[in-house]
Amino acid sequence: MIVRARIVVTMDGPPIENGAVVVEGNRIVNVGTLAEVKAHNSNEIVDLGEQALLPGLINAHCHLDYTCLRGKIQQQESFTDWIRAINAAKATLSPSDYVKSIAAGFAEAQRFGTTSIVNYEAFPELIARTPAPIRTWWLAELIDVRNANRAGEVVDLAMNSLNAIENGGLAPHAPFTASPDLYRRCAEVARRGNFVLSTHLAESREEMSMFRDGSGPLYDFLKEIGRDMNDCGGVTPLAAFLKSVGAPGGRALPPEWIVAHLNELTESDFDLLARSTTKFHIVHSPCSHKYFGHSPFSLERLRAFGFNICLGTDSLASNDHLSLFAEMRELRQNYPALSPETVVEMVTVNAARALDRQTLLGRIKQGFRADMIALRFEGKGEVLEEIIAFDKTMPWVMIDGHARSET
Ligand SMILES: [Zn+2]
Repeated sequence: MIVRARIVVTMDGPPIENGAVVVEGNRIVNVGTLAEVKAHNSNEIVDLGEQALLPGLINAHCHLDYTCLRGKIQQQESFTDWIRAINAAKATLSPSDYVKSIAAGFAEAQRFGTTSIVNYEAFPELIARTPAPIRTWWLAELIDVRNANRAGEVVDLAMNSLNAIENGGLAPHAPFTASPDLYRRCAEVARRGNFVLSTHLAESREEMSMFRDGSGPLYDFLKEIGRDMNDCGGVTPLAAFLKSVGAPGGRALPPEWIVAHLNELTESDFDLLARSTTKFHIVHSPCSHKYFGHSPFSLERLRAFGFNICLGTDSLASNDHLSLFAEMRELRQNYPALSPETVVEMVTVNAARALDRQTLLGRIKQGFRADMIALRFEGKGEVLEEIIAFDKTMPWVMIDGHARSET
């Protein structure tokens, strides 16, 4: 099949006017102008008309479990109160509520042009019950704060659900809910089985005051539920994480990790991040960040150090949409000096790199998977500027060579 569009944004070179992409099976086999492509292919042409064709977007951090909580969690005084509120809301949900919630999340993500998603799954046993219509990395979200010394069991149980799927991963929730033993075991299992590793880190001021000062609302809450707080005081969340994954001092940061947030960093953290020759990947979630009113994300500094920055939506318990377009717009508002190309890279090529799929996803390029989206294009200004401004649902989506049209 030849897919033709008014403009093809490959993320692998300049946009191609009157461009065309040849798709065979689930792969892209040729890209060029329509004339160039037609000279070598006589396949059927699917003409998308006045649209821009671009790589499908990759959401590097979300929790589809909580799609049904949109608008249900009021903004709270503190991050800790938000944790209390979401825990109370979760207590009212059944497994079948979660299955419906995840399905609704997949549908919404796809409507907004997401073709790959990194989904933290708090109930890994539900993975088998929930068909994924888009390319999905299921990350078992693991917590052992109430199960001290049982990290091994927690990981083994998750592996029962992960072993059967194509793209799996492990996500110890955060240094305040996952023990060093849990982090270590996840890293070990991931090394053996080629799993993705991710965690929340240094998200809130309360996480910083818990680790650094040994006080604050998060400290009090976790102490109250029985967490051993001996690791708190005199350490930053980043340092606590690095110690857990066996990289104390941070001479070499663990490059296999996808780290969500990283809002709270001290100058000693910045020194350590700058010094390390290896870097992990970072996911920023602009709209969820705004909802919480977190400390500003040090995007420019982290980019200058060479970190690979991706975008995520996080969950609808702290956001009101699963649209990476809205995330890109929020990001541009906060960082107006960023070029539109840099912003689109964060939801395409950068995220593909974080998932170690940089030779398969994130670009429209020969040999890559045929994951593409198309949207109405008027050509009135800068191409990527107009694409980021698109705020409707996607009229055309192709995933793994299968096209789905809205009409
Ligand atoms: Zn999250």
